[in-house]
Amino acid sequence: MTPGRPFLLIAFALSLLVGGMTATVAVAQAPQAQEEPAEEQPAAEGGWDFEEEEEEAPTWADDFKAQSIDLAAVAGFSVLAFVSFFRKSVRLKYVTLVAAVLYLGFYKSQLISIVNVFGLMGGNLPIFRYNMAWYLLAVVTVVSTVLWGRVYCGRICAFGAFTQLVDAIVPARWQVKIPRAIERRASWIKYGILASVIAYFLITSDPLIYPYVEPFWMFGLHLRTPILLTMLGALLLTTVFVRNAYCRFLCPLGAFLGIVSNLTVFRIKRWSECSTCRICEKTCEWGAIRGPKIVMTECVRCDDCERLYADTKKCPHHLILIRKADILARRAAQAIPTPISSER
Ligand code: SF4
Ligand code: SF4
Ligand code: SF4
Repeated sequence: MTPGRPFLLIAFALSLLVGGMTATVAVAQAPQAQEEPAEEQPAAEGGWDFEEEEEEAPTWADDFKAQSIDLAAVAGFSVLAFVSFFRKSVRLKYVTLVAAVLYLGFYKSQLISIVNVFGLMGGNLPIFRYNMAWYLLAVVTVVSTVLWGRVYCGRICAFGAFTQLVDAIVPARWQVKIPRAIERRASWIKYGILASVIAYFLITSDPLIYPYVEPFWMFGLHLRTPILLTMLGALLLTTVFVRNAYCRFLCPLGAFLGIVSNLTVFRIKRWSECSTCRICEKTCEWGAIRGPKIVMTECVRCDDCERLYADTKKCPHHLILIRKADILARRAAQAIPTPISSER
């Protein structure tokens, strides 16, 4: 269910190239900013001695204006993500994934994180006035999760987008298929990690456990200890061979959003034929379909099964209806008596 490989290779290469350049510039600039010496103040003695003018405190309007480009960019990206979601367009989805890696990942380096779950529990979220774009992203994440499920994971999270692009490019023969039974059990690991890090935070009040359970810092490369780099390297290598490994088995934020997605209002529709048909179950790369049931905690609303649901050439529901309509039409044709000639 991926667009042409050349399109993906170009998109992926572009995202890595631009992303790498952005991260390098960010890393190169960060220490400079810290190391810049404070400007020396001219001595007042013997010189001009004006009274210091008090600067006016910025108003809310000033802060809003200062963040307006950021707000517009996050809003624009969200619109792209939801247009691709509602149109069920594969191409638009991959455009969104590349934009997520480049913009939210490498450029902004500001994703929703387990640290925000800690903040929610400790009442210590970013200050609204100075973080309007982050709040917009957080609202989009929570509201969309309640309405449709983990759309955030399916196309907004930069790390999830990165792994999906890797999956689309890596040849299928390289990928290790995890047996369904093991996959189901392994999907519980992320809930264990979520419970453990929350317990750790509640006991120690220390949020700095996050880089050990989340690789999102890789976009800014601001934490470069040997242990973390080794962990990141191992995770990226695993991602090449095991599809969506981190998202399916390890991500505590994914587990948190999975719990929220139990509330999903607009669920994926199913036909009565889904109770025996296994086409969608085999297609789902997230292990979220078990028989006729869609497990909302695991589903990231990737659209693959929804496209099949509407496919009149592949989905047995439509094929059966078309066949029934054909049979009825043939029977009706046979039942019509041959007109008798009225000529005398
Ligand atoms: S499971 Fe975690 S890493 Fe994967 S897309 Fe969701 S939030 Fe991002
Ligand atoms: S292909 Fe159609 S009938 Fe089969 S599982 Fe998917 S939606 Fe259901
Ligand atoms: S294939 Fe369907 S059930 Fe599986 S993750 Fe995608 S949308 Fe969810």
